[in-house]
Amino acid sequence: MHWMDLYHRLLEIYGPRGWWPLPSRAGRDGRDERGYLPGGGPPSDRAGIFEISVGAVLTQGISWTNAERALLRLLENDFLDPRRIADCPPETLASLVRPAGYYNVKARKLIELSGFFLGLRPDGPGFRAPGRTDLLRVWGIGPETADCILTYAFGIPSFVIDEYTRRIFGRTGLADPKEPYEKLRTAVERGIPDSPAVYAEYHALIVEHGKLRCRTRPDCRPCPLLSCCEYGLSSLSYETARTKHDTSSLV
Ligand code: SF4
Repeated sequence: MHWMDLYHRLLEIYGPRGWWPLPSRAGRDGRDERGYLPGGGPPSDRAGIFEISVGAVLTQGISWTNAERALLRLLENDFLDPRRIADCPPETLASLVRPAGYYNVKARKLIELSGFFLGLRPDGPGFRAPGRTDLLRVWGIGPETADCILTYAFGIPSFVIDEYTRRIFGRTGLADPKEPYEKLRTAVERGIPDSPAVYAEYHALIVEHGKLRCRTRPDCRPCPLLSCCEYGLSSLSYETARTKHDTSSLV
């Protein structure tokens, strides 16, 4: 299977995911009730770009549902703004983002990120996109978060590698899941079109499949990718052989 075969299969199964959600615009501008916009691109305005970047930090190590709760608390208290966050006492910010877990650390990360945003040059209604290296210099921004921010907030294609990506690429035989982050990212980027829309959709589809089917204990039998998945086929043939052995030892 090729990188894009997997992409097309997943897109056919799940359809466009509408990432990244903007909860502040839920139910508006064509977005659904949680802020997703299937087929939509990155926001062009500063508020939207900043909200996605904050969300990328808040969701580090936790589910989007909890990150979203923290994001909504920032929104309700009028804190979704780089100046407001940068000037906010860390303990106040920490109590606001408590639902996202690791709240003291995340508060500090958000203050650092906001300082970085305050230094970005405006570009029309948005910002001039930062370089990946500059983003990685911000305290608390690792490769996965930087790639989320570039891809989803700025529309700069930079493939996001997370646990779901490693697991699904590894099980389908596309890549060695133990490859270092940069090596795996470069390999994927060589194999897919240089399109912000493909980068954004591909990662969202991987997460969907990883949550619904290809979990730590995968649900292979009904998986629509089974026919082209090395891991699924071999684990099911092992299971069948074991069942046959168990049944024959009973007679
Ligand atoms: S067949 Fe199993 S291992 Fe393969 S992608 Fe599907 S759920 Fe994952």
